[in-house]
Amino acid sequence: MGPPARVLTSNEIVFVGSGGGRMTTASQLRATGGLWIAMDGTQIAVDPGPGALVHCRSRKLRLDPAALDAIILTHKHLDHAGDANAMIEAMTTGGTKKRGFVYAPRDAYEDDPVILQYVRDYPEGTGILEPGGRYPIGGITLETPLRLRHPVETYGLRFVGSRYTVSLIACTGYFPELEEAFVGDLLILNVVYREPRDTIHLAIPDARRLIAALRPKLAVLTHFGMTMLRAKPWELADAVAQETGVRVLAARDGLRLALDEILT
Ligand SMILES: [Zn+2]
Ligand SMILES: [Zn+2]
Repeated sequence: MGPPARVLTSNEIVFVGSGGGRMTTASQLRATGGLWIAMDGTQIAVDPGPGALVHCRSRKLRLDPAALDAIILTHKHLDHAGDANAMIEAMTTGGTKKRGFVYAPRDAYEDDPVILQYVRDYPEGTGILEPGGRYPIGGITLETPLRLRHPVETYGLRFVGSRYTVSLIACTGYFPELEEAFVGDLLILNVVYREPRDTIHLAIPDARRLIAALRPKLAVLTHFGMTMLRAKPWELADAVAQETGVRVLAARDGLRLALDEILT
């Protein structure tokens, strides 16, 4: 038995993992555990990739999935969904306590489903994310303003709480509508590449443009592929901060952001 789980009562974001993309996932140079969001007494795991459950349970993080109110997948790719079933079982204490919600795009449930049939009865409910969706979860509202540009059905997320709005632009190519849809106090961007390489992932120039347009109080870059890791993401984040005049951080595994300290 490890130490008892921490109780997150404050408004806090934990970067369970800061890695993304196939090569980082395969090498585990950065963990691929996604995010843990605690706001207004509500706790949500987002994109639990391979290793999410182990990292949540680690001595360093001590996050208890049995306290989760929801698990959300922005899309079905492995680096976002590899531990989805393990986390659903953990949220429901091995399927013995019917509780919590799961939200994912339709294709995560349909052909080649990443949410297994047999775990779907464990939570209180499962929901399908759609463009323009609004989903009340505990004390906050999840919004999915837009479908993103990615090979499988993918959504960006906004978590609207009583004090803060946290926006996540998940894996996508750049398109102008992103510049209006993801306004928030905190903006998290999945930046897989340093230089633009394709039309389905953000690179540093896209992140710079989005941060300059959306002007959050704080932007955090995460979900780093190998070209980002080689280029030292914290140096790239500093450069984007100087160019935009917005505070920008590069996530690292286990980074905790206390919103009451960092956003006020
Ligand atoms: Zn990804
Ligand atoms: Zn993807």
